[in-house]
Amino acid sequence: MSRFFSELYASAQPYTPGEQPRDRSYVKLNTNENPFPPSTEALSYTTVKTFLRPLNLYSDPESQELREALANSLGVAPENVLPGNGSDEILNFAFMAFCSPSRGVAFPDVTYGFYAVLAGLYGIDTKLVPLREDFSVGAEDYFGLGRTIFLANPNAPTGLALPAEEIGRVAGANPDNVVVVDEAYVDFGGESCVPLTQRYNNLLVVQTFSKSRSMAGARLGFAVGDAALIADLNRIKYAVNPYNVNSMTAAMGIATLNDPDYTLTNCAAIVTARLYLTSQLRARDFEVLESSANFVFAKSPDFGGEALYAGLKEKGVLVRHFAKPERIADYVRISVGTREQLDALLAAIDTLREELP
Ligand SMILES: *Cc1c(COP(=O)(O)O)cnc(C)c1O
Repeated sequence: MSRFFSELYASAQPYTPGEQPRDRSYVKLNTNENPFPPSTEALSYTTVKTFLRPLNLYSDPESQELREALANSLGVAPENVLPGNGSDEILNFAFMAFCSPSRGVAFPDVTYGFYAVLAGLYGIDTKLVPLREDFSVGAEDYFGLGRTIFLANPNAPTGLALPAEEIGRVAGANPDNVVVVDEAYVDFGGESCVPLTQRYNNLLVVQTFSKSRSMAGARLGFAVGDAALIADLNRIKYAVNPYNVNSMTAAMGIATLNDPDYTLTNCAAIVTARLYLTSQLRARDFEVLESSANFVFAKSPDFGGEALYAGLKEKGVLVRHFAKPERIADYVRISVGTREQLDALLAAIDTLREELP
């Protein structure tokens, strides 16, 4: 940190993204990217001609066509939707809009690391709510906390999901606070809370094109909720980054929404591959949590989490390991890739086991 760095943010602990090494080619199962390419609609010349705004002009600060396409696909009104530069930007807006020195935040002790990063950045008082013994989120643990609540559903890195009705109970039990549900992985088997946003005006749903729609590099996410909540997020957006969604990404987003079968087919393939991976790991005596996402969280009977991560990396397979908190240190998170990638992972695990003394 230079002597010029603002004391406002000196306590920030930056997010550590999954490694993207270039020293050799890896079977990359560490960042929950989708192994399939984006919809060909999204990449086609027709899309460029039809939906791309001329690039000498600024992108539409209202993202109007994209908002309408999102609203149509979700069954809500355009004023209930706000697109962002990835859902991470939306989460940042939500922290800025709904957390403050007088309104703290609560989220699980094991969840998406970015919530703690944002809370640290803005110095927000944080209550970490422990997951239950079985790693599930207990809805009652969030009743009447008097704080803004962030829940990933399905949760990361566990992959466990709550029924939407349980999230609805959390929203109902916190009528004076916003409940943010991060549905980054919902298309792989979770139940979306979008319909519940019509019933609870304090419920904000956040989704992304990064995982189920194969667009991580295009950076597109969005929030869905009561028009007043969306207006609040817009106040922040116009203070921080008015042209937050670039024209190319907006065009790709619209085209992708026009090709829903492609997304559904890919998600189904990933669910099939997830079931295969889960059964193959269990056949090797791994403990595998019941995932509703495009990754599994698994514990080996033969290796600690750190050792398995390091051994697999040496064999050219990348998975993600979290050293903290301690209760997850013996697990690794494995993204569900193609069948070929998963077979390479399983072969590497078998080699590591054969090499044991
Ligand atoms: C990947 C992920 C995000 C971030 O998605 P972007 O849209 O790429 O910014 C948000 N929340 C969770 C839980 C994620 O796993």
